Amino acid sequence: MRRAGVLLLLSLTLAGSLWAVRGDDAPGPGGGGLAETAVATETPAASPTATPSPAPPVVDPSPPPAATPPGDGPLAAIVERGLRRDSQGKVTEAFGFDAASARGILYPVNKSRALPPGYTPTDLVSPDTFGLEGIQPVRSIIGPDLAEMNRASEYALVVASGYRSYDYQRSVFESEVLAKVRAGMGRAEAEARANAESAQAGHSEHQLGTTIDFNLIEESFAGTPAGRWLAANSWRYGFVMSYTPKATERSGYVFEPWHFRWVGRPLARLLHEQDYLESEIPLSDYLEAIWAALED
Ligand SMILES: [Zn+2]
Repeated sequence: MRRAGVLLLLSLTLAGSLWAVRGDDAPGPGGGGLAETAVATETPAASPTATPSPAPPVVDPSPPPAATPPGDGPLAAIVERGLRRDSQGKVTEAFGFDAASARGILYPVNKSRALPPGYTPTDLVSPDTFGLEGIQPVRSIIGPDLAEMNRASEYALVVASGYRSYDYQRSVFESEVLAKVRAGMGRAEAEARANAESAQAGHSEHQLGTTIDFNLIEESFAGTPAGRWLAANSWRYGFVMSYTPKATERSGYVFEPWHFRWVGRPLARLLHEQDYLESEIPLSDYLEAIWAALED
C-alpha cells in the first residue's frame, strides 16, 4: 500500500516533467530549457551507485554576506537562547552548530538575499541513500534526520524535489517569465509576477541541498495524512516548513505545505515552542536574526 503510493507519486513525478519545479521555484513553466534540466536532475536517480559519498563535511563553504539589515529586536532575544558566546561576546555556537557550520546551514535565503551562483554543496547524494525515493539529490548531512523522520512517519515520504543548481533555477525562472510574456504580459510585469510565485536564481532554498519538497507539490497536501503528519512532527527531526500560511506577507511566498528546510533539531524545536506554524513570522526572519548575531 505504502509502496504503491510511492510508485504512483514517482510515476506522476516522472510523467510530468513540470512536477518537481512547481511552487516555490515555479508554478509550471512550459517550453524550452526544461528538457535539458530535467535530464540533468534525473542523473542521480539513474546512477545512484555512481554518486560519490564523501564524508559529510560539517563546515560549509560560507557564502559571502549580503547587504540586508539584521533581524529585529524581539527575534534577536529569542534566538539568543540558542547561541553560545566567548568572553568577547563572539558567537561560537548557534543551535548546535559551530559558528562556521551555522553560517552555511542556517544561511538566510530569501527574496532579498541570494546565494552566490557558485554555491554548490559538496556532499550531495541520492535520497535513496537514506531510504527515500526521489530524483534530485540532497546533502548527506541531513541524511540521519531524514531517514529517522521517514521511519517514524506512517506515510511514505518522497523527495519530490531536492537540490537545484543556480543554472537550473535560472532556466526555470526564465521559462516562467517567457510563458507569461507569450500570454500577453509585458516583460516587467511578467518578471514581477514570476518573482511572487517562485524564486529568482540564487534565491531558492533548494540550492542549499538541505531543503526538500515532499510528496505532493500542491496546497491540498496540507490536508493529506502525510502533510498533516509532517506539519505536526517534522520539527522533531530538524525540519521546518519554510512558508507557513500566516507569514506569506513577510516571506513573500504563498503557503507551501510541502517545502521543508532542515535547520537541525535545536532551532526546529525553538520554532515549535514559538508556535511557529501559526505565526506571522517566517523562518527567514529567525535566520536573519541568527545571521546578524554571527556577523556581530
Ligand atoms: Zn520547495
